Amino acid sequence: MDEKFSLLRAKIKASQRLVMNKVISEHGTDICVLCGSENEITREHVIPQWAFEANQNKSLVNTKNNQSSSYIKTTIPACRVCNSELLGAFEDNLKRILLEKNGGDLNQFEVDCIIWWLQYLGFKLQLMDLRSKFLRYKGKEYIPFLSDIPVAMFWGEIDTTPHKVFNTIRKSRRELIKKRKAKKSNSLLIFETSNESFHFFHKVDEFIFIEIPQVKKAFFFFFNKEFDDHNLAHAECMEIIKKVYND
Ligand SMILES: [Zn+2]
Repeated sequence: MDEKFSLLRAKIKASQRLVMNKVISEHGTDICVLCGSENEITREHVIPQWAFEANQNKSLVNTKNNQSSSYIKTTIPACRVCNSELLGAFEDNLKRILLEKNGGDLNQFEVDCIIWWLQYLGFKLQLMDLRSKFLRYKGKEYIPFLSDIPVAMFWGEIDTTPHKVFNTIRKSRRELIKKRKAKKSNSLLIFETSNESFHFFHKVDEFIFIEIPQVKKAFFFFFNKEFDDHNLAHAECMEIIKKVYND
């Protein structure tokens, strides 16, 4: 696992400038977003297929415009080597570990891998928002000049400028170069679950929640916050979960 994981991070590091320049100049680019290659491009699912496979008809609802897209169709470009050989091997190992162990039994390397994986999901979600056009608020009036704006740049807030959006994506991609995540360990919460259905929500650059019946676990992760105490993170996480499910 470690060898392929290292190679994947090395490829991300070597192509940081190339991929960011391409993403900025052409949001819907078809180069591999992991290594910048133009060869053997495949579709890499934003929400991995193994995570939602029992729920094929589930959709991702974008909170910015209320448009939904099915998980199965929500993809970003990645070359065959990065997608199948490197990422595929990494995720297969991660799945095996998650099935075998309870959250409390994971070692630091395994925790680092889970955090990396959640950060990677966050990065893909940001790219997805950049690649999708705003179109319109579902059920609201069609406003032509808004329709072509990337979803990522529409929030109705002052700081969602292209500059800010690209900086956030650049920063998220840079996190994927780092192997050690010890400082972030308290920002990750792992729940054992027997829930049969897949659940997911996130807020760009703030937090992500994903519940995966296949590995009987749910994860919550704060992308930017670091906590001295795991209990503080737990309390804040529970507040957010309650709010999401009560709204
Ligand atoms: Zn690649």
